[in-house]
Amino acid sequence: MSTSFVYHALGLQGYEYVHQKFEGGSVIFRVRPKWRLLRCPACKSKQVTRRGLYFRKLRSLPIGRKPIWLLIEVPRVWCSDCKCLRRISLDIAEPRRSYTRAFARHVLELTKLMTLKDVAMFLGIGWDCVKDILKRNLARRFARPALRQVRYLSIDEISVRKGHRYLTLVMDLDSGAVLFVGDGKGAKALEPFWAMLRRSRARVQAVATDMSAAYIGAVLENLPGIPLVFDHFHVVKLMNEALTQVRRGLHHELEDVLGKKVLKGSRWILLKNPENLSAEHDEAAMLQEALKLNEPLSTAYYMKEDLRQFWNQPDKETARAVIDSWIERAQSSGIGHLVRMGNTIAGCKFGILNWYDHPISSGRMEGTNNKIKVLKRMAYGYRDMDFFKLRILAIHEAKYSLTG
Ligand SMILES: [Zn+2]
Repeated sequence: MSTSFVYHALGLQGYEYVHQKFEGGSVIFRVRPKWRLLRCPACKSKQVTRRGLYFRKLRSLPIGRKPIWLLIEVPRVWCSDCKCLRRISLDIAEPRRSYTRAFARHVLELTKLMTLKDVAMFLGIGWDCVKDILKRNLARRFARPALRQVRYLSIDEISVRKGHRYLTLVMDLDSGAVLFVGDGKGAKALEPFWAMLRRSRARVQAVATDMSAAYIGAVLENLPGIPLVFDHFHVVKLMNEALTQVRRGLHHELEDVLGKKVLKGSRWILLKNPENLSAEHDEAAMLQEALKLNEPLSTAYYMKEDLRQFWNQPDKETARAVIDSWIERAQSSGIGHLVRMGNTIAGCKFGILNWYDHPISSGRMEGTNNKIKVLKRMAYGYRDMDFFKLRILAIHEAKYSLTG
């Protein structure tokens, strides 16, 4: 072994080899910084004299499966220019870390291919160490996203643990990247984001949100004059909820067991788009049977189908007429949930029509939500919320079929 070995094999530049030791299946190389390269860490002066040393043990790149450690003699120096005793800082590792930068890069490469647990096992290090390396890397790259070029935003919330905790996400609809993850839901969760956005001087063109009063208020207040768009995705979701309520109310009223069974089986079929009904399971026939049971359910179902036409019109004016007619039918239907939906649509008509000027959709957010669900299933989701948020910010580059 030699200085040129540590240089070529371990990428250690500016260090000389002292000796090696084999201990418990790993190799320990003792090295020290080359004396002639020593400078004062503060003023960079060469006028330094050695005043003792301390040791730093760093995990380095493995050779095959064999763990490699560096035991580094780190000198303390007296700088005659600063008139001060100083510790030499090592450029091959970050302060207070027990591994070299090269080792950290190696771990990051591996996290792209396997779960954190796999990486920890493969390298024989703790899971926390792998997490620490990934977390620091994500924080460096994603904690402060560039907002300057952002044009179209989508705002939505996700539940982290059923009914327990929410996170509010802001997505860039052009790039698909999550720009911000706020604690909780509603207007308050977004406050730090507005501050970031103002500093960036981005020129936002439009924002897609659901129809909750909190988000509408927050956007109107913080992005005055910027159109709000209620896209297909959110409106249909709300209508599906109304339809489910109608079905549930009916289920309580129904006396006969057979009818209840038919209704129960129709739960998902009612929410499907008709073109997606499965022929194999004869879902179309099941749907007809459920709709025959009860008129309000059938009305609500066809109103749901009609509602999808809001976004299929040749222009904004035709769409306005279609929506107005829908609102009128809903409000005069005599079905409580449908009347309420009619009122909601009436109040949000402006945002649905804005879609004709800015045809954006939160559909992209749905794909992201699916990836987050995979992320949530991994145990660390709740243990370190900051890490979880960082992983969401990096989620557009994650391949979750593989990685954990
Ligand atoms: Zn100095």
